[in-house]
Amino acid sequence: AEHVTDRAWNGIGTTADGMRVSVLANVGSVTDTQTAVEAAAQGVGLFRTEFCYLAASDEPDVDTQRSAYAEVLTAFTGKPVVVRTLDAGADKPLPFLDSGTEPNPALGVRGVRVSFERTAMLERQLEAIAAAAADSGAEVAVMAPMISTVSEAIWFVERARAAGIRRAGVMVEVPAAALSIREILGAVDFVSIGTNDLAQYVFAADRTLGALAELNDPWQPALLRMIATIGHAGEELGKPVGVCGEAAADPLLARVLVGLGVTSLSMVAASVPAVGSALAGHSLAVYRQAAEEALAAPDPARAREAVHAVLG
Ligand code: PEP
Ligand code: MG
Repeated sequence: AEHVTDRAWNGIGTTADGMRVSVLANVGSVTDTQTAVEAAAQGVGLFRTEFCYLAASDEPDVDTQRSAYAEVLTAFTGKPVVVRTLDAGADKPLPFLDSGTEPNPALGVRGVRVSFERTAMLERQLEAIAAAAADSGAEVAVMAPMISTVSEAIWFVERARAAGIRRAGVMVEVPAAALSIREILGAVDFVSIGTNDLAQYVFAADRTLGALAELNDPWQPALLRMIATIGHAGEELGKPVGVCGEAAADPLLARVLVGLGVTSLSMVAASVPAVGSALAGHSLAVYRQAAEEALAAPDPARAREAVHAVLG
């Protein structure tokens, strides 16, 4: 709560030379919504919809979903909210999806892959999101989790458009999607990098294992290189690139991400004021220089040190 009252944070993310960066909140419940509003977030960059399904023993019907989503969206009338479609499986198992028998759930039928098998379920969710968007007046976009190929991205965008949702994007959290980023950016309105899963898949290191925390450190230069590939493609093609994993909540790393071409940052609401005010410290050119230093470092600790030396 201390940084929620951070005086330097005026609710607008801007570098010292005036480049706008959206500073958004991650929301996974109605309680999170309140925190996001108090933190003066500019909107929501990741609305995790699993909460609506987790409590249920079966798929919630469209009306139930509509009112659950509207409860969150009404707090953001006129503001951008990126609603992520159901990301079930692996670390987010659902009682009514029988993925429990897979030998490798993190590599299994999870995220958007569930929607390929149960397309009508995705269509019902999109219908509920479109209705809640209309109820609330929020600037709603949708995005799909765990996209791996450009065909999958096209498939999802078509379904979002069919549901009457104008803005559609995908998460980049599978390395294959990062390697196809130009083609994917051509098919979507925006992408958002999920650094939690991207780190897990880049390093072949389970994100839930404390023993592998070093490999899942978002300061790993190899992860930053993959983010650079995505950020630079976004700059060249003029498409927004967000980060909505834990990496965005670190005020030092957030500025490195901006230096890599990231245009919006979404994080746990409590970190919004600290990240928002940190952005104003230096110009984009300095963040680019900090990013170069981080990319050239041999390990996370030295990447942090090098960036500290540039940004103070
Ligand atoms: C991520 O993978 O970085 C992400 C933002 O999504 P989640 O943590 O919900 O998988
Ligand atoms: Mg993820």
